Amino acid sequence: MNTSDRDMSLQVPNRSKGRYSSLCSDDELLDDEDNTLWQDDGINSLQGSFYLPDTGRLASATKEDSSQLTAVIKMGWLDKNPPQGALYYQRRWVKLDADYLRYFDNDKEVYSKGLISTAFITNVVSVGELKFEVVTDNRTFIFRAETEAERKEWVTALQDCTGGRHRRSIMSPGSPLTPEYQGYLELRGLRSKLYTVVASDKVFLYKAIEDYRIGVGITSIEMNVGNVKDTDRRSFDLTTPYRIFSFIAESEQLKEQWVDAMRNAIGEALSNSEVANRIWAEPSNSLCADCGAPKPEWAAINLCVVVCKRCAGEHRGLGPSISKVRSLKMDRKVWTEELVQVFLLLGNERVNSFWAANVPPSEALTPSSCSEDRRRFIANKYRQGKYRKYHPLYGNQKELNNALCINVQSSDVLETLSLIFCGADVNCSTGMASCPSPLSLANTHSQPLQAELLSHNLNTELPRSEGVEDMEAVHYSATPCVSHNGFLFKTASMARAITERKAREEFSRRWCTLNDGTFSYYESDRNSNPNGALKASEIVCLAVDTSEKHGYDHTFELYSESERLYLFGTDDPDSHKEWVKSIAKSFIPASAEPLLRLGFERIGRLKCKDGLNLQTSKVGWFALVGSTLHAYLENSQGEEIHLRKLNELSIQQDNEVLVLVERGRTLYIEGERKLDFAGWSAAIQTAAGSGGDTLSQQQLTETDIPVIVHSCIGYITQCGLTSEGIYRKSGVNSRVAALCDRFRRDARSLRLKEGEQQVDDVSNTLKRFFRELEEGLFTSENGSTWLSTAAIQDENVKISQYKVLLNRLPRVNKATLQALINHLYCVQRFSELNQMNLHNLAIVFGPTLFQTDGKDYTAGRAIEDLIQHYTLIFEVDEQQLKKQLEEITVIIQVREKLNTKFPSTEPGGHFICTVYLEEKMDTTEQHVKIPGSMTAAELTCEVLDRRNIPVKDKEYWSCWEVSDKEEMERPLHYQERVLPILHSFGTDSHLLIKKHLAMEAVIVYLANKVDPSKHGMMKFREERSILGLGLTTGSFHDRYFILNSTSLRMYKEVRSNRPERDWPVKNLRIYMGIKKKLRPPTCWGLTVVYESKKQEKPERQQWYLCCDTHTEMREWYATFLSIQNDGNVWPQDGLQQTRSARVLPDTRHGNVSLIPLRGSENEMRNSVAAFSQDALALFRDVR
Ligand SMILES: [Zn+2]
Repeated sequence: MNTSDRDMSLQVPNRSKGRYSSLCSDDELLDDEDNTLWQDDGINSLQGSFYLPDTGRLASATKEDSSQLTAVIKMGWLDKNPPQGALYYQRRWVKLDADYLRYFDNDKEVYSKGLISTAFITNVVSVGELKFEVVTDNRTFIFRAETEAERKEWVTALQDCTGGRHRRSIMSPGSPLTPEYQGYLELRGLRSKLYTVVASDKVFLYKAIEDYRIGVGITSIEMNVGNVKDTDRRSFDLTTPYRIFSFIAESEQLKEQWVDAMRNAIGEALSNSEVANRIWAEPSNSLCADCGAPKPEWAAINLCVVVCKRCAGEHRGLGPSISKVRSLKMDRKVWTEELVQVFLLLGNERVNSFWAANVPPSEALTPSSCSEDRRRFIANKYRQGKYRKYHPLYGNQKELNNALCINVQSSDVLETLSLIFCGADVNCSTGMASCPSPLSLANTHSQPLQAELLSHNLNTELPRSEGVEDMEAVHYSATPCVSHNGFLFKTASMARAITERKAREEFSRRWCTLNDGTFSYYESDRNSNPNGALKASEIVCLAVDTSEKHGYDHTFELYSESERLYLFGTDDPDSHKEWVKSIAKSFIPASAEPLLRLGFERIGRLKCKDGLNLQTSKVGWFALVGSTLHAYLENSQGEEIHLRKLNELSIQQDNEVLVLVERGRTLYIEGERKLDFAGWSAAIQTAAGSGGDTLSQQQLTETDIPVIVHSCIGYITQCGLTSEGIYRKSGVNSRVAALCDRFRRDARSLRLKEGEQQVDDVSNTLKRFFRELEEGLFTSENGSTWLSTAAIQDENVKISQYKVLLNRLPRVNKATLQALINHLYCVQRFSELNQMNLHNLAIVFGPTLFQTDGKDYTAGRAIEDLIQHYTLIFEVDEQQLKKQLEEITVIIQVREKLNTKFPSTEPGGHFICTVYLEEKMDTTEQHVKIPGSMTAAELTCEVLDRRNIPVKDKEYWSCWEVSDKEEMERPLHYQERVLPILHSFGTDSHLLIKKHLAMEAVIVYLANKVDPSKHGMMKFREERSILGLGLTTGSFHDRYFILNSTSLRMYKEVRSNRPERDWPVKNLRIYMGIKKKLRPPTCWGLTVVYESKKQEKPERQQWYLCCDTHTEMREWYATFLSIQNDGNVWPQDGLQQTRSARVLPDTRHGNVSLIPLRGSENEMRNSVAAFSQDALALFRDVR
C-alpha cells in the first residue's frame, strides 16, 4: 500500500496458466483460488483426530480475535465466478473492510480463500443480471448478488471504499503492509511455495510475488493469536486457535530468520494491542465515538474521542489544527500513561455528553454510513461544534478563562474539555507570575491529566459555529442539576472503616450544600469558604447505616475515590432521606438511574468482570437492597443478583476479589480501592448468609427451597430410603446440633457426604430445622386453618380447601412444602424397606411441621392428607412422579447390589476403579474411590492432586471415557457423574485423565455464536446388524444435517423437506473417532450412540458421522456439547474452583489395601452394567 499503483502495474507479468495448474493439481481445478490450501488433510494431518497443539500462547484466543477488529463495512453471501472462465459460480461469504475485500468458504471461516486490497481496486461496475465487476489493474473479479438491492449496496460500498484510496494511502504511512520480512515458504501439504509476507502484526500469504505486488492474496493471519514453534531442521509451525500452518523454509538459516520475523510480529501484535486493550477497558471506548463501529483503533487525542478507521480518515480531513489523529496500535510513543488515563477517565460516552449532546436522529451516523455522510457529520461535530453542549459561561470570555484556571486545579477533566471547546483560552493569562498559564497551574497543582489535555490543545482551532444554530443548542443544553442544602452533623473524615460506634460528641454541626456537582460543608451557613468539598464524580459509594448505629439516629457514609470516608448524621429521618437521595442522584449516571428508586443500604460503583471476557474489567453500578444486589454493568440492562441464592460466594486473592457464583455465570467484583470495597464485601457477605430463622431468610436454591432442606432431602434420597425407621429414629444429638449449626452458618458450603454423615443425623437435622423455624412452614397466621381443614369430612371439599390454603402460602413456603411432601411421598412408597408408611410419617411430621406438642393427631391428620393426596393437592404431573420413583428404584437396586456383592471397606459402597493419567500404561495407573456423587471434574482433580500436577491457566484437564476396541473416546462433561459411566462400560473401555486440547477452540467458537445450532453436509453411516449376528454392513453416504436445540435431523439432501431421521439431541452421546475397520472416508469422524429412554423398550443404536475438515468436526462437536449442557461446557473458573472447593484427598488411600480391580474388574462391571439400562439416570440429582 505504500507503493503507488503505477509501480504495481509495471511489475506484473502475465500469469501463465501452468503455474496455477501445478498449484492446484492436488485437486480438481475448481476455482483458481480454491486450491488445496484449505483442505485440512493438507495442512493438518499431524494427528489422527481432533487436535490442537498444546501451547501456552493459545490462551490469547479468548482475547477478541483481532481479525474481527477491523470494522466490517459490508458482508454477505455472493456468488463468485472463477476467473479462469469456468462457467459456474461458487457461493462465497464476502467481507469488505476499509483495507480488503475478502471471500471465504463460509461465514464461520477465519481465514479467507482470497483477498483483494481495496487500494488496488480501480473500478467497480454493475454488469449483466445481478452481477458486478471488481476491477484491478490486472484482474477482474465478477460477483453475483441475489437481489438487485443487494448488488446496489455492494457496488456503493465498494465504490465508497475505493474512491478514497488516494487519500488513504497518504493517510497511513505506518500501514501494516510495510513488510518486515518476505519470501517464498513451503506450506506443508501444498506442492508449490507461497509468497509469504510478514508485515507489522500480520502474516500475509500470496501465491506468488506477482500477486503480492498487485494486492491480490490468499489470506492474512493475525499474529496476536499466533504462536511459532520450531519443529524440525527447516520447518516450523505457526499455530493459531483456528489452524496450524506448517511451513518449510529453504534452509535452516532462513528458517531461523522466518521464525524470528514471525515472533517479532507476535510481539508487535501484542504490544500493539496493549494500548488499544487498555483504552477499550473503558467500555464506551470500544465503540467509535462518531459512528458506533466496534473496536475503533484510532483516536483524536485533543478532542478525546476514540474513533474507527473510516471516521479517522474524515478527522484527518479536518486538519491537525482541529483534530490530532493517532493510532492506538501504531503510534505507540504518543500514548503516555497520562494520555491513556485521560481516555479512561473520560471515555467516549462522557465525552459525547459534551460533543454530541444534541444530535438530531436524522444526522446521526451508523457504522455503515457512507463517506459523504461521515465527512459532513464530523465537520459539523468538531469543526462547527454544532452538537455540543454549551457551557453556561459560553460567550463570556473572561469568565470562561477564569473558570478554566480554577478548574484545571481540580480533577474534573471533562469540565476542562467543555470549557476549552466552548471558547476558554488555553493560553490565557492567569495573572500569577509563578504559574502564568493554565498548563503551569495544572502542573503546579499536580493535575497531570489536566496538563495532558491542555498540552494537546495549545494550538487547537476552536469550533466556529454559525449564526442561529448556537441559539438552538443553548436551549437544548439546560439539564436539571441536583441541589440541596441544610445542616448535618459530621465527624472528621477517615482513612479506614468505622468499626465502633461514634458518639454524639464526635460530630460537629456543619452547613452542607450540594450544588453544581459538588458537595461542600461549611463552618456555618454564613461562611462563604467551605471547610471541605467533594466532587460528586469523586464519590464512589454511599452507605446508609441502620438507625441508631451511631450517636445520631440516622447516619450515612460517603466514600471518595481518594479512599476517604465521611460520616454524616442527623436526628431527622426526613432530612436524612432527602440527603441520601440527593447525593446518590448527583453521582449515579443516567444509565444506572433506576437504582435511585430503590431503598438501598449501599450504592456506588465497583470494578468487575464476568462471562468470557475476564481480560478487562468494566465499571458497574451497584445497589444493595436486603439480600438482592442490583447491578448495571457496562451498557447492559439492569440485573438482580439474589445473594441468598448464590451457588457460592468467596473472597479471593488476598481479599481483593469478591467472587459471586450464580447458576450460569460468575461475577468477579474487584477491590479497586480498599476502603469502599471492604464495606461492600462485608455487606454482601452478610446479605448472602442466612438472615434469620424464618424460611425466606435462608439461603435458597434456584427453585426457592432452603439449601438446608434441599441438601437433606437429596442425601436421604440417595442414601437413606432403605434405612429402617428413617425419620423416626433419632440421631446423635451432638452431631445433629453441630450439623444444624454448620447449615445455619453457611448452608451453601456444606456438602453432605455418605460416610461423613449418618442418615439419622441428617434426617433429624431436617426435622429440627422445621421445628425451630420462626413462623413455621404453614405460617403462624394460617397454621390453625390448615389444622381445622383436616377435620373436614367431605374429601373433595377438604382437598379444594387445602389447595386454597396452599396458594395462600408465601412463595418460599409453598415451594418448600411441595419439595418436602414430594419427598415424604417417595419415602412411604418404599415403606416395605424402611417401615415408614403414611401413618408413621404423619405421626412424626405432623407436630414437627405444625410445631405442636403432638398430644392429639390433628397435625398428623393434616400431614397424612397432604401426602396421601399429594398428586391432587399439588397438581403433580403423574408421569414425572413415575419417572422419579423409577429413578429411586434404580438407585436402591444399585446400592443393594454393590453392598452385597462388593462390600467395601467403608459404609456406603463406593466403587474403586482404575484411572489412567495421560496414557494407558501400568505406570500411570491410579486407583480411585468413586462415590456415587463424584463428578468428572472431581475425579480429574483427585488424580491431578495425587500426582501433584498443577493446573495451569487454559489447561483443560478432563476425564475421558476411552474405548479401545471401538477406537473412540469421549471427554466426560465436568459435571457428569462418573459412577454411572463406569457401570455402563464394556470390557474394553477405561477412564483416562488428559488435557482436552480442543476445548479452547470449542469455547472460542461457542462464544462467537448467538445460539448453538448448525447445519451442513456430513457423511453418514449406520450400523446395521445382519441376521442379528452383530456383523455390520453399509457405507458412508452424504447427508444434510440440521442440529438445533432439541433435535438432530437428517435429510437426504439440502432441498429435502422431510427429514429421514430425527433424534432428540439430549439422548445422543457423541464420541470422537470411528473404528478404522469401517473405513471412514476422512479421519474427522464422530461415533454417535443413541439411547432411547423408553422404559418398556430401551433401545441403543450406534452410527457414524464423518466431516470433511477438522474445523467442521470441531464445530459439530462443540454445538452438540453446548446443546446437551445448556451452554455450560466448562466451569467458568476452570478446574481451580473444583479443586479448591473439594475436600482434600483422603490420605488414607495410600495405606489401606484397595480392592484389586484388575482381573475381577470386568466381571464386576458386567454384572453391574446389566442393571443399569438407563445408566445416565443413575445418581442424577433428584430435584
Ligand atoms: Zn466511526
